[in-house]
Amino acid sequence: MLVCRESKNGRTIIKVGNVEFGGSTLVVIAGPCAVESEEQILTAALAVREAGGNVLRGGAYKPGTSPYPFQGLKEEGLKYLNEAGRIVELPIVTEVINEKTLGYALKYVDIVQIGARNMQNFSLLKAVGQANIPVILKRGYSATINEWLNAAEYIMAEGNDKVIFCERGISSFETATRYTLDISAVPVIKSKSHLPIIVDPSCSSCVNKYIIPLAKAAVAAGADGIMVEMHPKLQDALSDGMQSLDRSQFLELCNQLMAIEKVTKTFC
Ligand code: PEP
Ligand code: MN
Repeated sequence: MLVCRESKNGRTIIKVGNVEFGGSTLVVIAGPCAVESEEQILTAALAVREAGGNVLRGGAYKPGTSPYPFQGLKEEGLKYLNEAGRIVELPIVTEVINEKTLGYALKYVDIVQIGARNMQNFSLLKAVGQANIPVILKRGYSATINEWLNAAEYIMAEGNDKVIFCERGISSFETATRYTLDISAVPVIKSKSHLPIIVDPSCSSCVNKYIIPLAKAAVAAGADGIMVEMHPKLQDALSDGMQSLDRSQFLELCNQLMAIEKVTKTFC
């Protein structure tokens, strides 16, 4: 399989602007779960840049478990995200949920995200493969690592080798956190594939106070990056406020991750 480590010499490095996934430095992706307004995403973007984040995130199409919460600003949200990214000079990522939204996203963003709920949406995987754009492929919360590798293979088989795995927690019997972060996925993916892997500690725990320790564990385990939800006004967030960091917590996270990265580099 193209996704397997044996299929190429060395590891894949995915370059997006000045950012390298799978290179020698950790990538920090941050931003609100959803783009809510022009002002909200710009405030978030400024905070991400100020703390040393590398990529700005923001959802414009939100496929929630329930259909009733905020579902995103759609193309208007993509415009605001694009504008904010240009102002702070950071690459941007957004989630696509089908071929139609992929078409819109291609006009505005540098990286697309396939969410946990769409990991086995095979027609979307093929379309992203044909679009040849960098893609963050989240793990389905009930998917085995083998199924996840095969989802990446769908994208690669269409000629797109710019796939970044994202571990975001799996369903388990535990109820203290919404999902259980599978830290093992980091070394397992690294041994099975040449592609980079990042970890999302927001979606896995869904609890603000667990985000920083989980992010640190992921970096210590060798993750190439972190994706975290950060909202400038947590109490006003239209989606996922409880699993987002505020600005000062995000700054704290970045500082702590830099320290951990230094230590892990000494040992690796
Ligand atoms: C998200 O990143 O906002 C999201 C919906 O993630 P997941 O697909 O992992 O639930
Ligand atoms: Mn979210």
